[in-house]
Amino acid sequence: MSPPKTVAIIVAAGQGLRSGSALPKQFASLTGRPMLAYSHAAFSSHPGVDSALVVIAAGQETLLSEALGDVPFVIGGETRRDSVRNGLEAFAAEAPDRVLIHDAARPFLSAAVIDRLLAALDSDAGAIPALPVADTLVRHDGSLGETVSRDHLYRVQTPQAFRFAEVVAAHRNWPAHKDATDDAQMVARSGYNVSIVEGDPMLEKITHPSDFAVAEARHAATLRVRTATGYDVHRLVESEELWLGGLLIPHDKGLSGHSDADVALHAITDALLGTIADGDIGMHFPPSDPQWRGANSAQFLQHAASLIAAQGGIIDFIDLTIICEAPKIGPHREGMRSRIAELLQLDPGQISVKATTTERLGFTGRGEGIAAQAVATIRIAAR
Ligand code: MG
Repeated sequence: MSPPKTVAIIVAAGQGLRSGSALPKQFASLTGRPMLAYSHAAFSSHPGVDSALVVIAAGQETLLSEALGDVPFVIGGETRRDSVRNGLEAFAAEAPDRVLIHDAARPFLSAAVIDRLLAALDSDAGAIPALPVADTLVRHDGSLGETVSRDHLYRVQTPQAFRFAEVVAAHRNWPAHKDATDDAQMVARSGYNVSIVEGDPMLEKITHPSDFAVAEARHAATLRVRTATGYDVHRLVESEELWLGGLLIPHDKGLSGHSDADVALHAITDALLGTIADGDIGMHFPPSDPQWRGANSAQFLQHAASLIAAQGGIIDFIDLTIICEAPKIGPHREGMRSRIAELLQLDPGQISVKATTTERLGFTGRGEGIAAQAVATIRIAAR
């Protein structure tokens, strides 16, 4: 028997007016990535989820492609319920077994929550993640009333998981004029059992501007620091331009190599790849591949940064040392810091550029080549 086919729908059709952001909040930056990117990555990387569909509002197509590139999407409706319905109908023809319905405003979705939900669908038509209510609850109707028992009270989160046939039938049969707070209510009212699995404090909904800072702090607490080094050497020859630290520098010689041979950007690229233990620059951009002949090394650096971002990592600091007798690096130091910062979408304060000679000793001392070494410090989710 083949494993059940499971799809995910991310509802991201809101205009996000309460968040105070110029962008709808699902596209706003959260620790350097669009909020929507986190839950999309959680579904895309989960082995039990076969495909993820994003529901956006009409007119948000460009925002979506800027946030996630070319991903499947449908346009939502007037209400959240209409948007979910459009997502479900988009999958109806392929009749998946299970569907996870999620709000983009809950970005920090763990594989463990998805696992618990899918396991619950073995016995129930629906499952929702929820946390017990911890605060004291009271009634207040102008004056303070009685305390409400917290027994059997839960705060409901998303994703909500359902057997596909049951939830699509619940949506199709639900009277248009009747309110429903969420999909779980609709499935339960249609006569099916919906169970509760343990939710996750990381799944708190982001609604107001102040929620962003709280969510970023909560996310940061889950990250661990990693450092890695990179080292590179290229030969100086008379017939080449000198690209160094992302700048074209006037000099009587230039660095020779398959690409533009920017030894400084190569060292930083290797340091960044080292932080995620993802090989080295030669593995990602083989010198044997003609497409990298004369290539601008900025793209190597940005590729390494994108691999870190794809894992939710944050680059904190780059320390670069260039080792040569000439040219003098001092006059170009600030330009290199600005250019490297620009390429990595960092602040120049996060980039250090140092230089040293080797007292005329060795190949750098004789002016035969330039060496560079770099240390990268990032934060990334502990694994
Ligand atoms: Mg190199």
